[in-house]
Amino acid sequence: MPHPHDETTDGELGARRSVAYVLPVYNEAEGIETFHTALVEATGARTDLDFEFVYVDDGSADDSLDRLLKLRGDDDRVTVLSFSRNFGHQVAVTAGLDACTTADAVIVMDTDLQDPPRVSIEMLDLWDRGVDVVFAQRRSRQDSRFKRATAFGFYWVLDRMADIEIPRNVGDFRLMDRKVVAEVTRYREQDRFLRGIVAHVGFRQEALLFDRDPRFAGETGYPLRKMLRFATSGLIGFSTAPLRWISRLGFAISAFSVLLAVYVLGVRIFSPENSVPGWAFLGVGMFLLSGLQLIMMGVIGTYLGRVYVEAQDRPLYSLALSARGSRDVDGGRR
Ligand code: UDP
Ligand code: MG
Repeated sequence: MPHPHDETTDGELGARRSVAYVLPVYNEAEGIETFHTALVEATGARTDLDFEFVYVDDGSADDSLDRLLKLRGDDDRVTVLSFSRNFGHQVAVTAGLDACTTADAVIVMDTDLQDPPRVSIEMLDLWDRGVDVVFAQRRSRQDSRFKRATAFGFYWVLDRMADIEIPRNVGDFRLMDRKVVAEVTRYREQDRFLRGIVAHVGFRQEALLFDRDPRFAGETGYPLRKMLRFATSGLIGFSTAPLRWISRLGFAISAFSVLLAVYVLGVRIFSPENSVPGWAFLGVGMFLLSGLQLIMMGVIGTYLGRVYVEAQDRPLYSLALSARGSRDVDGGRR
């Protein structure tokens, strides 16, 4: 069965397919030239494709922008977008995707050489075979023990909480077919967790295992503070479970108050000499009331969760194919 992108791109005989790289840059002046050289060298292997390199300078404080503009002067396949301030990695990638909706495939990768350019060429092979999203999954990583441990904990929690399955040990290094890019760019939430959005969109997704290299130069743009905020976006953006947990906790505490009442009654009946007057009323009452309050907060939380999901205003669905009648001029293509 022919794959949809064969039809849209190779349909006209001889039409070359284009691949755009989306490359977020934040204080990468030291390594950016090395990165670009490595990327150009790797992409040289695919002479059948037209490449475009979209660098998004995320308000770098060093001279990353000047160096990017220099790259732009030497290579007309380079596009440089520059933010007015630091908006964060996820927004930088989004801006890059917004600028690449006409490319047949988009590859998102870090510019610190942690995502090896040759792996992106392997992604293209999978894309040729009809895979719509190729996400690079880390077989190993050279990060600190702390980063590895926190990442493991984060994915563990995410796995249990999120409403959709978000693959583990996957960053934003991935290839997306143009139809996936078209869908992903429809998600306009402020607090972005792109890997969750891509998982949410669907289509044919496959993992490609790779070994993550250490950072080539400079230092991480994701200090603990940013990492925590990012992890929260992932959990909160794809789950309203914490709101429902309030009710569950309330039920547990209320149940405990019932057990306590039974116990107090037992003491009263079977060993009245040990019962302390007034204690039962206070103890049982405290647990019962706080339990009830939590249940009620959970009820409010459940409604709030629905308001939240509606306020996210995400697209309801993404079409993989629409075969319309022959009178439709579009012929089903979007
Ligand atoms: N980055 C960005 N904006 C930021 C932080 C990082 O565009 O606020 C870019 C950075 O230049 C790199 C990628 O996002 O290309 C990943 O960042 P980094 O390597 O610092 O994160 P880590 O690999 O340590 O998680
Ligand atoms: Mg990095």
